[in-house]
Amino acid sequence: CGIVGYLGPQDPKNIIVEGLKKLEYRGYDSAGVAILNDGKTKRVRAEGKLKNLEEKLAGEKFNGHLGIGHTRWATHGAAVERNAHPHQVGEISIVHNGIIENYLEIKQELLSRGADISSDTDSELVAHLINEEIKKTQNLLQAVQTTLSKLIGAFSVVVMWEKSPDELVAFKDGPPLIVGLNADKNEYFVVSDVQAALQHTKDYVYLEDREVVHIQNKDVKYYSALGAPLKKQVVTLDWNP
Ligand code: GLU
Repeated sequence: CGIVGYLGPQDPKNIIVEGLKKLEYRGYDSAGVAILNDGKTKRVRAEGKLKNLEEKLAGEKFNGHLGIGHTRWATHGAAVERNAHPHQVGEISIVHNGIIENYLEIKQELLSRGADISSDTDSELVAHLINEEIKKTQNLLQAVQTTLSKLIGAFSVVVMWEKSPDELVAFKDGPPLIVGLNADKNEYFVVSDVQAALQHTKDYVYLEDREVVHIQNKDVKYYSALGAPLKKQVVTLDWNP
């Protein structure tokens, strides 16, 4: 339902939680974050209000600079912690808005290859597909592009890879996904609604359907579904949060 991804110099925890609060108006049943810490993914999820997530996060400190967060509005699987996002499979963590329509087919394929599926969501399957690819190629952009070609439905997805602390990849087809840029501070946001990042930047790039954004080491690149590089326009918003 609500997505906030962050890559930058600050502790991602507060930025992500504050961003998710701005998206509370959309409604949700659970929430979670995955933040890189000492080269490991720390994932914290909670049923119910963001307050519950904040309580669980209260004692946590992060020295990483990369994280993703989500407020979930359940479509596939009950509103329980096990189904809350982010979903993590191996070194890959993702957050997902929307619905993967061909999820049953994908689930069958994954099960036939011995995947260990731990939630009832359509979303977790996307993490499995990307994880399978990253194991083959060690290339996050390529892993995401291959996975996108297998997905049918309405989705926006942000992906982080534990092995790559300066990299964030995202894509969408249907629900909005917007890249926020704060070049002065080397801060990058990927959000489902600009409200979640307006405190930090006014410069945004709106992804079109089946486009992919690849943020890595201060470099932001956009690609079509077929992998062709795209020139995207930066929109500067002139309104205040
Ligand atoms: N279909 C996904 C789920 O049920 C995502 C729902 C959402 O957009 O929050 O977990």
